[in-house]
Amino acid sequence: MINLSPGPVAIKPEVTAAFIKAPISHRCDLFRDDFQATREKLCQLVNCTNVEIITGPGTLANEMVAAQLAQLDGFGLIITCGEFSNRLKTIASRQQLDFSELHQDMGEVCELDELEARLEFEAGKITWIWTTHCETSTGFMFDLERLARIANDHQVKLCLDCISTIGTVPLNLESVYLATATSGKALGSYAGLALIFSNHEIQANPKIPYCLDLGMYHDKAGIPFTISSALLYGLKKATEIHLEKRHDKRLGLISNRLRQRFEQLDLEVVIDISHSSPAVFTLAIPTAVSSWQLGHLLKEQGYLLSYESEYLVKKNYIQICLMSPIAFEDVITLPDLIKNLIPTTKASEIQITKPLGTGLTLSKNPL
Ligand SMILES: *Cc1c(COP(=O)(O)O)cnc(C)c1O
Repeated sequence: MINLSPGPVAIKPEVTAAFIKAPISHRCDLFRDDFQATREKLCQLVNCTNVEIITGPGTLANEMVAAQLAQLDGFGLIITCGEFSNRLKTIASRQQLDFSELHQDMGEVCELDELEARLEFEAGKITWIWTTHCETSTGFMFDLERLARIANDHQVKLCLDCISTIGTVPLNLESVYLATATSGKALGSYAGLALIFSNHEIQANPKIPYCLDLGMYHDKAGIPFTISSALLYGLKKATEIHLEKRHDKRLGLISNRLRQRFEQLDLEVVIDISHSSPAVFTLAIPTAVSSWQLGHLLKEQGYLLSYESEYLVKKNYIQICLMSPIAFEDVITLPDLIKNLIPTTKASEIQITKPLGTGLTLSKNPL
């Protein structure tokens, strides 16, 4: 099976080998040293001064960002353009942050000109911006350099969810206030650790729920509670691998060739190349065909795509992510296969007209 999903990603054998060692105590010196070494490597990878490694999903890291933002004076601005940036808004609302929203519908791009205009219009009122670096649901990715410059010019603190960009594009997070990532997805380890990067001193704050208090983690040398050594060692190895191949251009090359072929075949990639992550292709499937069924057929043919999430099914999207180690030969015929599986007529005809091999069972669309 060729893994083209955003997670769980295919895990390299070296990472698995590090992961399956017998667990050790999070209180022993060896663990503490390796924990610190992992933090340093992670910081090196994204050019940041500090990172906390917390047990939990990426969403927990975002929840902790919100808890920090709640302590700031002034208003925030959350930029939304799809499932994951919308979730930031949900998190912010539940933590009762004061913010307004710069919104685009899912599948649209956010123009930085518009952000600049908004910041000028609300001059001095907005003190922080929060958004996804890559909106994974569509593949939209901000130009980080320009976004950081705009934030800096307007003296607003920039917070970024980098969960789908760490490990796919070079990240320079030196000027962000807070940024989040995870051990799963493109970093290439097992899911289960949340990462929060920062470049400023963070104080413990008794107003923040204990588990969500970033400053408290800092005070306890990053290890206030039990943390799985298996997850830590998997992450450490995966980070080392990424550091070594930091300047590898292969993903970009594969991505360009894929996009070229999608265009030649008239398959609609939702986000254009100048606004897109190289690692995410979200395809809008003609409405006569069920994206869910198409994703299912592709799975039967050995390609594991993302197609079952509710937000994809609703928009009739399928998604190809280049977040697992992948070879050019693995994916280059995929656009043609997709084209051949999309009949010009009705979804039901897929079952009749295509040679699908034996043992294929089409379950009902879940929604
Ligand atoms: C996957 C993803 C998340 C959610 O991560 P979990 O580990 O499932 O909580 C949040 N934001 C972005 C941009 C993502 O791609």
